[in-house]
Amino acid sequence: MFNALSESLDNTFRNLRGVGKISEKNITDALREVRLSLLEADVEFSVAKAFIATVKEQAMGEKVMKSIKPGEQIVKIFNDELTKLLGGDQAPMDLNPPAHILICGLNGAGKTTTSAKLALRLKKDGRRPLLIACDLYRPAAIDQLKTLAEQVEVPCFAPEAGETDVLKVAKQALSWAKEQNGTVLIFDTAGRQEVDETLIEELKQLNKLIEPKETLLVADSATGQQAVSVAQSFDAAVGLTGIVLTKLDGDARGGAALSMRAVTGKPIKYIGEGEKMDQFTEFYPDRMASRILG
Ligand code: GDP
Repeated sequence: MFNALSESLDNTFRNLRGVGKISEKNITDALREVRLSLLEADVEFSVAKAFIATVKEQAMGEKVMKSIKPGEQIVKIFNDELTKLLGGDQAPMDLNPPAHILICGLNGAGKTTTSAKLALRLKKDGRRPLLIACDLYRPAAIDQLKTLAEQVEVPCFAPEAGETDVLKVAKQALSWAKEQNGTVLIFDTAGRQEVDETLIEELKQLNKLIEPKETLLVADSATGQQAVSVAQSFDAAVGLTGIVLTKLDGDARGGAALSMRAVTGKPIKYIGEGEKMDQFTEFYPDRMASRILG
């Protein structure tokens, strides 16, 4: 991902590094190019504008202008501001018991896959996760979660075929979980093609019943700014604690990753970079910034 953005930033900064004594015009020209590159990467307009203004203010400072390697200094400012834009520090999960995690999102975003990936990740950290299938609209989703749960060797609660009452399922799951000696309960929920009232109402009720410590929205990064507006809608409805951005492997532009935090105020906690269960990691803003800068 970020291929085009990395390449154009590389070009711009290479030119800037080559300048011995830097002028205001050099900086303005370079940052204009950077702004275009960000917009081409599908970064939200106001986010790109504010970001460039911040970088410019610092770059125009006397310390940079009079330094021996002004180009290097500007790249450093860019790197630091990019890290901040991506969220600054890595956002931790609240896993204090009873650690209930509600996984929500639109159809196809990667909720079921993410639920299992997260279970595996937490298991590797020495926790005892349990998976709970609460997507009762798509019968295949329950089987899909069961299969993935077997693959990652995590116990899974699956409702009986034909069950339609999600609150009943959640209650059964909560008492099942007590016998399982698990420490983290991951609830995979139903999605829709778009954010609609039925979906939100079901989530609200589930939210009230299970009182999750973490409510994570799973969003497909390849959908760009749509992913960001979906996050805003879910947050307004159920209050998100974080975002999981999936399919970064198929996202050449990266606009969702870059705008998500600034627009929604919610941290990206994990990223998915492939279909395999281990292609999933915590999101580190500084590492992502380094990746973008190449
Ligand atoms: P759900 O409808 O939100 O539960 O979505 P699924 O978990 O069923 O995922 C939809 C499709 O996206 C599946 O084919 C997954 O294998 C795929 N998928 C999920 N996460 C990723 C990812 O990070 N990268 C790629 N390439 N595919 C993914």
